[in-house]
Amino acid sequence: TPPAEKYEYQAEVSRLMDLIVNSLYSNKEVFLRELISNASDALDKLRFLSVTEPGLLKEAVDLDIRIQTDKDNGVVTIMDTGIGMTQQELVDCLGTIAQSGTAKFLKGLKDNKDAGGDNNLIGQFGVGFYSAFLVADRVVVSTKSPKSDKQYVWEGEVNSSSYTIREETDPEKLIPRGTHLTLYLKRDDKGFAHPERIQKLVKNYSQFVSFPIYTWQEKGFTKEVEVDEDPAEAQKDEQDEKTEKKKKTKTVVERYWDWELTNETQPIWLRNPKEVTTEEYNEFYKKTFNEYLDPLASSHFTTEGEVEFRSILYVPAIAPTGKDDIINTKTKNIRLYVKRVFISDDFDGELFPRYLSFVKGVVDSHDLPLNVSREILQESRIVRIMKKRLVRKAFDMILGISMSENRDDYDKFWDNFGKHLKLGCIDDRENHKRLAPLLRFVSSQSENELIGLDEYVENMKTEQKDIYYIAADSVTSAKNTPFLERLIEKDLEVLFLVDPIDEIAIQNLKSYKEKNFVDISKEDLDLGDKNEEREKEMKQEFGQTCDWIKKRLGDKVASVQISNRLSSSPCILVSGKFGWSANMERLMKAQSV
Ligand code: ADP
Ligand code: MG
Repeated sequence: TPPAEKYEYQAEVSRLMDLIVNSLYSNKEVFLRELISNASDALDKLRFLSVTEPGLLKEAVDLDIRIQTDKDNGVVTIMDTGIGMTQQELVDCLGTIAQSGTAKFLKGLKDNKDAGGDNNLIGQFGVGFYSAFLVADRVVVSTKSPKSDKQYVWEGEVNSSSYTIREETDPEKLIPRGTHLTLYLKRDDKGFAHPERIQKLVKNYSQFVSFPIYTWQEKGFTKEVEVDEDPAEAQKDEQDEKTEKKKKTKTVVERYWDWELTNETQPIWLRNPKEVTTEEYNEFYKKTFNEYLDPLASSHFTTEGEVEFRSILYVPAIAPTGKDDIINTKTKNIRLYVKRVFISDDFDGELFPRYLSFVKGVVDSHDLPLNVSREILQESRIVRIMKKRLVRKAFDMILGISMSENRDDYDKFWDNFGKHLKLGCIDDRENHKRLAPLLRFVSSQSENELIGLDEYVENMKTEQKDIYYIAADSVTSAKNTPFLERLIEKDLEVLFLVDPIDEIAIQNLKSYKEKNFVDISKEDLDLGDKNEEREKEMKQEFGQTCDWIKKRLGDKVASVQISNRLSSSPCILVSGKFGWSANMERLMKAQSV
């Protein structure tokens, strides 16, 4: 037999293992969730790759997960028939820090510590393969990739900075494909090797795994066996002629061990929405997307007709941290399946416009080919129709939040994703009608509470034709602008656009419910109260003054005019009708730095 080779872990791995073993103490059982999810990922990968490389499936074994327990020796073995690992993959995957799950865990741990939180929260993050060391002091991974003709065995021990890899040569131990992961439990954790315990954990943690999970269970069936008569009974029977010839039997239970299907394999999105509880939707969300907060809203629907697909969409409770998340649209937030087979979560605008990239969910299509590629996705008519429907459903879901009795919900939503919707006003003309009612602003009559355009319109004066706004860098400067004077006097409400992107969004919308958006800082503001007579008088009285001022200021201003829009300030600087507003100038200046 070839000797086992010794390898050192990457430094971060040792640190991570240390953290896991020491801080997750009260949440040990998450190890099973992590290892099953790896098995399920490995099966997903195999199923996906085999669409284009059918040769990978040449070993005719079912795609499933099996968990065997040996309670006498404190051993748990998790077996899958997935993609397995080559020798190099063993080094890369189990000797260095893995990407998604574990990186997120480290970050969560830090955030949580910074926030002074306790360690319970951590159990909700994906901690990955190394969580095996929560309960085991020795882990053996025997794995066979269909890409290699050799099987390799990885072995590691808790609190060690190295591991070994060797080739498996014992014919008894060879497997056709996949991974067998054996945990030698720590003395105090041998309880996890009880079949009932494992069964309960699988039911708890893996109800959304779409491959069958079997656990090794002791079973029994009853059977009747003949027994020798006891003499007293026999005497009694002698007197009773009818039962004389009947033989005596007794019921016994015969014991044996067998695999038992332990999870429900129907994906949640294929179930009838009427039969799925909110808790189940939330659980599915948290497990699928590695989230620890419940979503703000969810929507489960089926479309039929031209294209057929099922989907569950979610609005997260918080936006991911990091400033550039709006630009980072490759969020892996939408998981695409074709006839239950996971295809990809690597999208950038194909299924959702970029400004809605915060929406998470699963989409299962009936009409796309299994070997659908990125190029096909980008050009497919089916995908275009799907996108339209998905966007519509996403808007319905957001509108639902805005109509919730709990006003907090929408405040939360707006806080996290308001910017995205404003970007939508700029990017997606087609959906202006859906976007506009979702926008929120402060106004001259509602400084502390955000209002929507519907509220604004309801609040309009009978003679008022337009929706007024002023863009400024803060509520205070908006409030103090002289432009406001006349409107306040007339009790007209003015939206305060204080987020730099507000003004551009509003200008893209142009109007709402046939009412134009009007910038009160532009010249020609018509409040519908022109008095020609008085204007003539004013012109006569101040015309020369204006000419004089214009001469003095020269090119610094375009013109000097008499205005009827001030009530206490003597003069005001306004933007030309077709020019940039002062706010826009400020923005452009800021951009060009
Ligand atoms: P993650 O699942 O987030 O990638 P893990 O630490 O759980 O991180 O796993 C690390 C990597 O090890 C996986 O990405 C995968 O490549 C590999 N791996 C783990 N378990 C298995 C398995 N049962 N079959 C095949 N590969 C596996
Ligand atoms: Mg994992």
